[in-house]
Amino acid sequence: MEYDLKVLKINKNKIEQLNELSIYTVKDLVQHYPYRFEEMLETPLHDESKVIIEAQLIDEPKIFYKGRFSRLTFHVNYHEEPLTITIFNRHFLKKNMQVGMMLTIIGKYSASKKAITASDLKLKNLKEISGITPVYSLKEGLTQKSFQGYVNKALNFYKGHIANIIPLYLCQKYHLIDKEDALFKIHQPQTRSDVISALRYLKYEEFFKFQMTMQYIKQNRTQNIGISKLIDKEKVTHFIEKLPFQLTDDQKKVIDDILIDLTSQKLMYRFVQGDVGSGKTVVAAISLYANYLAGYQGAMMAPTEILALQHYQSLKKMFKKYKINIALLTGHLSQKEKNDIYQQLENGQIDIIIGTHALFQEKVQYNQLGLVITDEQHRFGVEQRKALKDKGNKVDFLVMTATPIPRTLAISLYGDMDVSTIKTLPNGRKKVITKFIKGTSMRPILKDLKDYLLKGGQCYVVCPLVNESEAITGRNASDISKAMAQYFKGQYEVGLVHGQMSDEEKNKIMNAFKENKIQILVSTTVIEVGVDVSNANMMVIYNAERFGLSQLHQLRGRVGRSKEQGYCYLLSEATHSEQKERLEFLENHHDGFEVSEYDLKIRGPGDLLGQKQSGLPTFMIGDIFKDYHILEITRKDAFEAMNQHQDDEKIIKLLSEIKNNLIKNNEYID
Ligand code: ADP
Ligand code: MG
Repeated sequence: MEYDLKVLKINKNKIEQLNELSIYTVKDLVQHYPYRFEEMLETPLHDESKVIIEAQLIDEPKIFYKGRFSRLTFHVNYHEEPLTITIFNRHFLKKNMQVGMMLTIIGKYSASKKAITASDLKLKNLKEISGITPVYSLKEGLTQKSFQGYVNKALNFYKGHIANIIPLYLCQKYHLIDKEDALFKIHQPQTRSDVISALRYLKYEEFFKFQMTMQYIKQNRTQNIGISKLIDKEKVTHFIEKLPFQLTDDQKKVIDDILIDLTSQKLMYRFVQGDVGSGKTVVAAISLYANYLAGYQGAMMAPTEILALQHYQSLKKMFKKYKINIALLTGHLSQKEKNDIYQQLENGQIDIIIGTHALFQEKVQYNQLGLVITDEQHRFGVEQRKALKDKGNKVDFLVMTATPIPRTLAISLYGDMDVSTIKTLPNGRKKVITKFIKGTSMRPILKDLKDYLLKGGQCYVVCPLVNESEAITGRNASDISKAMAQYFKGQYEVGLVHGQMSDEEKNKIMNAFKENKIQILVSTTVIEVGVDVSNANMMVIYNAERFGLSQLHQLRGRVGRSKEQGYCYLLSEATHSEQKERLEFLENHHDGFEVSEYDLKIRGPGDLLGQKQSGLPTFMIGDIFKDYHILEITRKDAFEAMNQHQDDEKIIKLLSEIKNNLIKNNEYID
């Protein structure tokens, strides 16, 4: 059913404008849903606000001209009170206005003047024009009206040919309307309840399709026979016993899950989520060790060079007494060094390789790759997964993320993976003392900071901006670092890192901070993910209201990672009671899952994962947070459909469509 827009006889330059909105086919047009609806309803008079009223004309309108502009003024009777109405550039309406007629006036009310400056005037009763109008997000050149015209053409073109994709038993269960009906109702609603029933259908359909895709991918994968690895469990146990700490129960459970996966015939595809500081690195290390014992190479990929280096250093330390060859591959090695590593990977001399995306470049050939671990799922796309697949036959795959989204949500969104969760933090870990400080000045905490530095500690200072900005208010890292360097001159070193610096510069500063050559590190959120400097246990965050709660939680997870007490000061001028409440919530809550659940309740998905980089699947009409319950229901329904209704005609059709889509989008991995 993919028809080119040409069949609608829309003119060529309009088609180009539609293309700019990624609308190429009739189907795309129909699926460009309104993002909101405007309802014509009478509103009571409210000073200085937009009102819609119906009133009776009581005098002859007067027209005044000024240059090219005109002003039409008249009086109406509104609930037995006269109001003065003014509207610009509509003088032509006068000829159709008769004293005594009812008018609908839309505009801004001023109580002191008893007047409305109208933006629109209809020479009709409100009843005749009331209704609900879809509003689309459009680009230049297209008006709401013309767009509605195209959509109507598209709907008429399809009329009678839009088949339901949801099986009948589900439509009945949830009282869903037909798809055709839903499409008409979303674009041409008569009432608010039309919109509601249309949205119910469309959201359900979208999520159901998504969940069916997840189920399909999962089924394909589990059918795929992986390699059952032979692992000397005693050696693994021995390694665990030799660790300087006891594993937490959650760590043990995850490791069990992973060992079962590695030794099973099934290909591992596991998603491990754990709060910051919950100890995921050691889980990775043990997995890599088990994989090594089975005779395979392992690779661990980090999103940045800083993190790759850090993982490399911690693994080196953990495996110090073992004859395991660990190497680091990053973009900054010389060509010769790189070539050496390539060669050693190919001939199997390297057992474990740590690096960034460089690990999966074409040149890199592995000898016996058995396990890949990636940090932070959301930066690892399908492209990389495919590249990775080409590196080894039947590679087990483990993803680690420090974004603790509620477990049920994780299962829903990563329905194609198995999910393990590390909830508890290691014993003896103290809660980071978090304080909300009103204002944007460090003065109230300066004494704490100085005392802390005097004791030999190091401190992070996080700002929302790199440089001064006219558009956004907020403290910027450049100015703060200059001011602090000035203030602590001769006493402490101040460093600055931000996203606009090259990796090399960043690494240099980070390493200096690690080595305590820098005591105060001023930065933007680049230090958010995974950075581990155990002597730095104080953090000051400027304009804390500008960050999402989960992001703040991740940031403060940088401190208090050892037995030391961590401190986090949230500086904010938050005046909104809601903003204050959020920051106070952090003072009292230290569990990332609780934080994300709270965040989820009050804010959108972008915030949960820190701005737009979330990488969570995107939906056209469903909202994974607001419509979470539908996401959840469709997961169960898709599972059932896959297992109990595989013979349903609609399910068969949908699955074949899903497969074709995956192939078309180059996302089909078998
Ligand atoms: P994250 O999950 O944020 O990646 P890390 O793996 O970096 O956390 O662990 C944070 C710190 O906790 C590290 O210094 C690590 O050595 C330590 N750690 C990990 N597991 C335990 C444990 N079971 N008991 C005590 N300390 C632990
Ligand atoms: Mg980590």
